[in-house]
Amino acid sequence: MPKDRLTEVLERYEAVIGLEIHTEITASNTKMFCGCPVAFGGEPNTRVCPVCLGLPGALPVPNEAAIEWTVLAGLATECDIALWSQFHRKQYFYPDMPKDYQISQYDLPFCSGGFVDVEVDGDGVGERLDLGGALPFVGPEAVAEDGGYRTRIGITRIHLEEDTGKMVHVGGSEGRIAGATHSLVDFNRAGTPLMELVTEPDIRTPEEARRFAQKLRAIWLALGVSDCNMEEGSMRVDANVSVRLRGSAELGVKSEVKNMNSFKSLHDAIAYEIVRHAEVLDSGGVVVQETRHWDAGAKRTSGLRSKEEAHDYRYFPEPDMVPFTFDPARVAELADRLPELPDARRDRYMADYGLPKRDASLLADDRETGCYFEEAVGLVGDTDARQIANWMLGDLAALLNAEGIAIGQARVTAAMLAELVGLVEDGTISGKQAKEVFAEAARTGDAPGAIVEDRGMRQVSDAGAIEAVVQGVLDAHPDEVATYRGGKTGLLGFFVGQVMREMRGQGNPAVVNEVVRRLLG
Ligand code: ADP
Ligand code: ZN
Ligand code: MG
Repeated sequence: MPKDRLTEVLERYEAVIGLEIHTEITASNTKMFCGCPVAFGGEPNTRVCPVCLGLPGALPVPNEAAIEWTVLAGLATECDIALWSQFHRKQYFYPDMPKDYQISQYDLPFCSGGFVDVEVDGDGVGERLDLGGALPFVGPEAVAEDGGYRTRIGITRIHLEEDTGKMVHVGGSEGRIAGATHSLVDFNRAGTPLMELVTEPDIRTPEEARRFAQKLRAIWLALGVSDCNMEEGSMRVDANVSVRLRGSAELGVKSEVKNMNSFKSLHDAIAYEIVRHAEVLDSGGVVVQETRHWDAGAKRTSGLRSKEEAHDYRYFPEPDMVPFTFDPARVAELADRLPELPDARRDRYMADYGLPKRDASLLADDRETGCYFEEAVGLVGDTDARQIANWMLGDLAALLNAEGIAIGQARVTAAMLAELVGLVEDGTISGKQAKEVFAEAARTGDAPGAIVEDRGMRQVSDAGAIEAVVQGVLDAHPDEVATYRGGKTGLLGFFVGQVMREMRGQGNPAVVNEVVRRLLG
């Protein structure tokens, strides 16, 4: 779908978006109500016990660590923490749920009433609209020079529940039920502690939704509560979307889109839905409240076959567990455990190392990346932090991308990158040579210093040695020398290039420049 179509639609209609984000607490060693291990994959139905299989008579025992992680998540997103809380049974029938009810939370979630501030750059095409004051801008720096802005997204609640098992549909396409000959069920995931976060309908564009989900993932990663792997399903984002004519105060009918397993899919699915709703309304139709499925290949949503009914989950308090009480001192104790969160880290990188905001965010948003950066800077010193950042966001990022690996798996470690920057800073090698050394280190895992020694790559900075080469080049090009001396000083680069070639790139560029200038002058 072309972006200008979205822009055009958003000029007439205001989109209203609320997200529901499920995150598995992968930091927990065990499931929510039993001692089975939490892990991804494995032989089906091997990590199960009578409790997570819902066998008669089995009793749930709540996982204290998972509750603490949820409270931490709430504190990190400015939520109020309930001092009195409780689990409920949510009844529905689906084969991936062995008990035929899910232990979840209803009117007493552990966390409620929080917010996350989201920043949108000014250059997002189709996102930069006059939002007519509809957005609750916050803070004095809310609208930046480039048209970027910051907006506050309310968090209705974060509750804790147990994850379901997984259905495997066999014989159809893409593992979907349509066309399948039969279905299998794997209960390994059943009972995994699962946080569900629900936002207020405060989001207004697909880009804001993407930024919110990315920001939340960065916060969860900073806490260490989950690995937030969207492809493996440990973080799953559903989007509720509606549109209304600009200026209207009434909410439109919403659709709920599922099955987006990347931030790009989240953005594209919401954009698709906004345009679809607008087209339905433009043609005089009515939007049907329904659950839809995002097909990333076809880049469209489709109504789910089984049209969801208005549910009656018949919630009632879980009779096998007593309610929970928290005293404020315990909550304060947990608050003390909060690590530095991505926004604070970004601000620190900007203040301490003078990094531009975008670079600082890129480094701070991922905990591992931030740790790598700080380790390298610790070795080279604060004044070279910019260099470290440039390498990380340039060559290193390209390498990780090409190999599809995380920074922790990179052959070039923080210590190696620091060593490389040190070699450039003390003049041992040139910036150009450093690129070669980096590539070699990335290939072999050898230390930069050793690569420089082995390949005889030491940069030549000795003016005497350079003078001899320069003199040779000048002698070989008398005509060019005459032209230069006649006023065509633009030829300087030609001589420098010849000298560098003679020296196989090992001449110190600053010294070569200086000597060429001097001998020609
Ligand atoms: P439901 O009862 O269908 O589950 P909720 O009121 O619980 O709906 O809201 C679920 C999510 O949908 C929340 O994130 C909420 O912000 C969002 N939402 C509610 N109404 C709308 C709407 N009209 N348009 C877009 N999102 C909405
Ligand atoms: Zn179990
Ligand atoms: Mg709801």
